[in-house]
Amino acid sequence: MQTLNFDNQFTQTLPGDPLEDNMRRQLHNAIWAKVSPTQVCAPYLVAHSEEAAALVGLTTEDCLSSSFLQVFSGNETLDGMVPHATCYGGHQFGNWAGQLGDGRAINLGEVTHNNQHWMLQLKGAGPTPFSRTADGLAVMRSSVREFLCSEAMFHLGVPTTRALSLIGSGEDVLRDMLYDGHPEHEPGAVVCRMSPSFVRFGHFQILTARNETELLRQFTDYLISRDFPHLARLHDDPRERYIAWFNEVCERTAKLMVHWMRVGFVHGVMNTDNMSILGETIDYGPYGWLEDFDPHWTPNTTDAANRRYRYDQQPAIGQWNLMQLANAILPLIEDTKPLEAALSSYATNYETQWQQMIATKLGLKHYDADLSNGLFSMLTEVETDMTLFFRALAEFDPSQPEATECFDAIYYQPAQLNETFVTSRGQWLRQYAQAVSQQDIGAERRTSMNAVNPKFVLRNYLAQLAIDDAEKGDYNHVNKLLDVLRKPYDDQPENEFYAAKRPEWARTRVGCSMLSCSS
Ligand code: AMP
Ligand code: MG
Repeated sequence: MQTLNFDNQFTQTLPGDPLEDNMRRQLHNAIWAKVSPTQVCAPYLVAHSEEAAALVGLTTEDCLSSSFLQVFSGNETLDGMVPHATCYGGHQFGNWAGQLGDGRAINLGEVTHNNQHWMLQLKGAGPTPFSRTADGLAVMRSSVREFLCSEAMFHLGVPTTRALSLIGSGEDVLRDMLYDGHPEHEPGAVVCRMSPSFVRFGHFQILTARNETELLRQFTDYLISRDFPHLARLHDDPRERYIAWFNEVCERTAKLMVHWMRVGFVHGVMNTDNMSILGETIDYGPYGWLEDFDPHWTPNTTDAANRRYRYDQQPAIGQWNLMQLANAILPLIEDTKPLEAALSSYATNYETQWQQMIATKLGLKHYDADLSNGLFSMLTEVETDMTLFFRALAEFDPSQPEATECFDAIYYQPAQLNETFVTSRGQWLRQYAQAVSQQDIGAERRTSMNAVNPKFVLRNYLAQLAIDDAEKGDYNHVNKLLDVLRKPYDDQPENEFYAAKRPEWARTRVGCSMLSCSS
């Protein structure tokens, strides 16, 4: 394997805990603790991402080597690595939960390559000081989901942590998948994730909750200089710098929410410990993709009663989470006004960008509120596949608004397509055709729509089919999906199977429509 170039600024600059073992504990006056990944008996490579590997200077040959397998399963440590876990807190489902931390994530070290830095992080490599009562391990099903979705999101153009590799551990892990008293052994796995930083809102929250204000200042200064260097240079006054930085975190979070809404992604667990300070999608757990367009949908069975993290509530939760971050950094700024101003800009910023996004999804230059309202009532009136709808609309010919064959295959319950619905759809399509002609959109409409409306997303049931095979030792499906999802906006006529709407058997199957936090 090529040598990786470690610079480890994080552990070199920020204070670590003097204790060097995996014993469960509360950390004080420290950001991280040294840990050792747990050895596994028979690791095997399930998949790797060529694109992610290239970011740190690794080739496919490197990824297929036995040394890669040993290192990224946690069995061996390379010279220059400083395996460690970090301490963070968080609000879970709206309630302050105290210290959480990297309970099953172990950072191996930071690599620099092509003037960028990447923290390499194993997920599922055994207990850390933050594992509380759990085992620090991950199962194949959740690891396949994390690996595939990270790379799918990247190719969709959605900010995300990356996934370098998916390695089976060769060991079993006990999980009660639905928390209903039926634990079973499942194959274990380790994913290696990459991001310039895995810092979450919760990292700031725990320091403030512990009144460790000087450490909070040091941590924030470090983060800004490392990951927001343009701000470090701009402002001499530290308070100005913190405010500019908070504004940027708000902007990035708003952008991320717009992307999720655009592609129909539901994160499922938007706790403050799952919010990346870089505005990336992080921690792929019980996430899901909208199939029929139901704004109230969440895949997470743990959240079934309140649906706090349902699709249409994500932007508001983003703001709620930013408010918790604002509270956490208040000791550095000592003035609530600029933070409140940033939070209210988040809302206006989001709204403006969302409107622009809806316009581009429709292939229009300008947002039309009336048209958009009509669109959403049409999409919710009968069970309509969101992804297929927007691809079908690109095929719709505005000069022939009565020709609706392009929509034939996008509905889940054909019996719902009664006369009333067909009539109101016809009205909306005529209104849409009019907007297209008024805004003078030419032949490029189809191309521009297809550039923002993916044909291929990681449909919940497709991930489950790949998992079913992987659990039996067949990894072709995982790799095939990885390949198809590399070009989500292309037509790929040979891969029509992966663009089809969810089959009926998947409507109620666990893993396809219902997921728990157990992973
Ligand atoms: P999540 O809801 O998955 O983001 O996890 C919340 C907290 O629980 C984080 O601190 C995780 O690291 C921790 N956690 C989740 N699963 C495990 C596990 N199997 N072993 C140890 N810690 C875990
Ligand atoms: Mg998490």
